[in-house]
Amino acid sequence: MGDNTRCDIGALSMKIISRQLFLFALFAVVIRGGAPVAPATSAGQAPGFYKGFLGTFEVTALSDGTASRHLDEILSNPGLVREELNADQQTEPVAVSINAYLINTGSHLVLIDTGAGELFGAASGLLISNLKAAGYQPEQIDTILLTHIHGDHSGGLCLGGVRQFPNATVYVDKRDLEYFVTRKDRTDDSETLQRQLKQSRATVGPYLKTRKIAFIKENSHVIAGITTISQPGHTPGHTAYLVQNSGHALLVWGDIIHSSEVQFAHPEVTVAYDTAPSEAAEARLRQLQFAASKGMIVASAHISFPGLGHVRKVGAVYRWLPIPYSSTPAELDPKP
Ligand SMILES: [Zn+2]
Repeated sequence: MGDNTRCDIGALSMKIISRQLFLFALFAVVIRGGAPVAPATSAGQAPGFYKGFLGTFEVTALSDGTASRHLDEILSNPGLVREELNADQQTEPVAVSINAYLINTGSHLVLIDTGAGELFGAASGLLISNLKAAGYQPEQIDTILLTHIHGDHSGGLCLGGVRQFPNATVYVDKRDLEYFVTRKDRTDDSETLQRQLKQSRATVGPYLKTRKIAFIKENSHVIAGITTISQPGHTPGHTAYLVQNSGHALLVWGDIIHSSEVQFAHPEVTVAYDTAPSEAAEARLRQLQFAASKGMIVASAHISFPGLGHVRKVGAVYRWLPIPYSSTPAELDPKP
């Protein structure tokens, strides 16, 4: 019994020593680390495009990049905004996506919104490089549909005063053109409006000079398969586009939502850039109800890229349901 005990103790000691040696070796490997790794030659992200289908139409979400914003400074009810961002693990400033959408109908190449061009800094203005990465050239675009005139939607029309889409006709609501481009300056114009006017005249103006602007009519076909839905409030002529093909539908609603963390639960929260905030909130509620009741796929300019998803009504509030990522282009609206 005594000898056996000594033997057991010896075996146990050996086990402990081996285990310690193993742990020491493991520790040494961990703290030593691997060989130094040189920084990658590509400092940015993968090209920002995402393709899908709507029936026979090809839909490409194009990222123009992001804009860094303190949302509690631009959305109404800052306390609530901070609370919702905290609850969703978001830290200010938030990188707000700027998305545009390209529709190849087979007979038209249609771009809905153009990004910020050179107006919003280096993190944006990427639309044309992403368009090219997606396999298209700016010259191929024949139709541009603006949801509204604001730097992050119409700013990409021109760079340095030069039209970037030489073969495109730009469709816009007449009220936005009159408000942001052709109106006479007034002494009581706010600084924000003065800046917007300057930017719009530099980027939309050259298309007006070359007679490449056309006006959209409210709630009517602009081209086969694309209908306008007037939703004034964010701007006087803010417009959504309903894209339909073979029984499938996609609602491209522009600036109905600036923060998915806040405005699905609180559609009454408005943004400082709204020209008529209460009308903008009404339009948001209308479009949320419309999209949720129809189970419609939505393309949203400022929801994280690609900004494609569904709206679900849960009790009295709404929720955003991003589409599942597909590694190969898939039907965006499989349940027409
Ligand atoms: Zn916008």
